Amino acid sequence: MNKTHKINGYTDLYALMGYPARHSFSPFIHNYFFNKYKINSVYLSFEILPIDFKTAFSGAHKLGFSGINLTMPFKEEVLNYIEELDEDAKTIRAVNTIKFDKEKKTIKGFNTDINGFMKSLDDNWFKWDESNCLVIGAGGAAKSSIYALIKKKVKSIYIYNRTIDRAYEIKSLFNEIENNKLVILKELNIVPINEINLIVNCTPIGMGENNISDDNTIPIPLDWNLNRKYIFEMVYKPVYTPLVKKSIKDGAKIIFGTEMLLNQAAFSFEIWKGFFPDSRYLKKYFKNSFK
Ligand code: NAP
Repeated sequence: MNKTHKINGYTDLYALMGYPARHSFSPFIHNYFFNKYKINSVYLSFEILPIDFKTAFSGAHKLGFSGINLTMPFKEEVLNYIEELDEDAKTIRAVNTIKFDKEKKTIKGFNTDINGFMKSLDDNWFKWDESNCLVIGAGGAAKSSIYALIKKKVKSIYIYNRTIDRAYEIKSLFNEIENNKLVILKELNIVPINEINLIVNCTPIGMGENNISDDNTIPIPLDWNLNRKYIFEMVYKPVYTPLVKKSIKDGAKIIFGTEMLLNQAAFSFEIWKGFFPDSRYLKKYFKNSFK
């Protein structure tokens, strides 16, 4: 990594706001980019109680921050405090990147999870239009993944969630764009697994050290053979989740949670700084450092 630049009165400020937020790799990633390109900017992480979010967000604006990333549980609430949204954020009603434009005096919201998801699969030569996909979960990550799959015109999208009503909510969100391709599953094991090319885990199952050796922490039936399927693991801590380990054993093509994390961060960086950063070093670093 390059020598850290000096922080001074002209340093541009960026931050993550979330609750929790301290565990995040985002400060590591963005400060790596700033150092690599010798940009006088710094990125911090703020863990903010939900009751304080409105004040904290307005405070960051008034303090002259240039950009903010948002994570749980603020991606939707922030819509109340911004004037402008890009098309993706408008469609899925969730924002993970804010740009405070000091010249135009605007606050604009973006959602880079969608492009991050697409790039993660494009980098792994995924054939969108030939693929049947299964998304497990129906929260924020599932919403952006499903939207990306719709935009990329995959053949079909099966959705399974513990709480089925939330899966139907996602289906109705996309009613106007695409409905025929979305199939809600009441049970996971009724999916035609042999025809499925991509499985996306959008639940936190597999997170947390205490769960690592427990078979129940895999979000799919253990007897599914994942050979040659694409397995997209959203969880990035640990990097090698039980699902990733099974995927390696079965001979699947894996998209790691850290790849998605890096790609969505790189798209945020591009919004703020005007060019797409090279994250190849970090991609290798994450894969090799957390085995
Ligand atoms: P979220 O909005 O809270 O949604 C969580 C989803 O997981 C819900 O559908 C929930 O089902 C389901 N779920 C939670 N615990 C479960 C359990 N024990 N068994 C079965 N289903 C369970 O969260 P999110 O933002 O979508 O994030 C989901 C995961 O993806 C998290 O681990 C997050 O860290 C990760 N993520 C990673 C990236 C990345 O860049 N790699 C980006 C975004 C998210 P119910 O509806 O039934 O509650």
